[in-house]
Amino acid sequence: MNPSAPLDPFGRSIDYLRISVTDQCNERCLYCRPAGYRGWSAGPEHLTASEILQVARAAVRIGFRHFRLTGGEPLLRPDLLQIASGLSALPGIETLSLSTNGTRIAAVAEALRQAGVHSVNLSLDAIQPDRYRQITGGSWEEFWEGFQAVLRAGFKTVKLNCVLLRGVNEEELRPLAHFAAEHQIPIRFIELMPLSLLQEARGDLFLSVSEAKEIISGGQNLLPLPDHRPGHGPARYFRDPHSGAVVGFIGALTTPDFCGSCNKMRLTADGKIRPCLGRHGETDLREALRNHTQDAEEILRQALANKPQDHEFTRGYEPARPMTALGG
Ligand code: SAM
Repeated sequence: MNPSAPLDPFGRSIDYLRISVTDQCNERCLYCRPAGYRGWSAGPEHLTASEILQVARAAVRIGFRHFRLTGGEPLLRPDLLQIASGLSALPGIETLSLSTNGTRIAAVAEALRQAGVHSVNLSLDAIQPDRYRQITGGSWEEFWEGFQAVLRAGFKTVKLNCVLLRGVNEEELRPLAHFAAEHQIPIRFIELMPLSLLQEARGDLFLSVSEAKEIISGGQNLLPLPDHRPGHGPARYFRDPHSGAVVGFIGALTTPDFCGSCNKMRLTADGKIRPCLGRHGETDLREALRNHTQDAEEILRQALANKPQDHEFTRGYEPARPMTALGG
């Protein structure tokens, strides 16, 4: 519990900022960044490293303590190490995490840990190389190389993230749990959120966390872990009696009152503060910073005051830009 965390209008402590450092990605996951997505090119649209640090300092001043670097694929950002070491050196930061697809991390895993990254989340939607390629367009071998480098580097926490996809990766769920158990790391299964611009990558592919629990446990009960919700994210954790794995579930669409424990806001790569992933409202920080019209602290406070109670994913939310542009 962070006593200095700022509160939103619904009394939730908000002390976690997810910072997207680029909207570009080397993969093209069908639910996130479909093939053909152009977005904007790296350059003046992206916040610079020093602008990101300026926002993070303001966030720390108002009580934020947990930061995650994400994207797009953050490893595509040439100055990622500089951003990570700048952030980890800020007094007041308690955790600095990274979300990555893992395919480009092998060469810099150790340097990232030395730069102060505490924990790494790796996306892994399938174990079979063909299916991995079908979903992501990427290479399982590159993932595997990155994964091993991440384990060798000795981060405090490493987790796997798998998006549940009906008709695509149900057969992968149990092997994925076994893979996680073998490497003694937790795996989280995430409900597909309607954030792709491709219509077919929304409703039809949706598989709920309760269906996933059935598949993974083979009808046995998953055992709730005593500390049901470790970490700073929204996952609920269980022990899978089959594999022994710690399995987490992020049921953004089907878990009642999912948003009741929300603790985060997002900073998009183009410098917008997004208080809720499942609502369109954003405030433009980049222009305010560049034109000196308002300071970052003031904008963060305004965004907090406008944080909505819940997302609109189940109430006809239509994405205007895909997940890769928002920061996962
Ligand atoms: N490229 C990095 C990665 O793979 O982790 C960081 C960005 S990615 C957007 C962050 C996480 O969001 C990944 O675990 C990804 O699977 C998840 N994600 C992307 N689109 C999603 C969607 N439509 N629904 C649920 N999760 C999604």
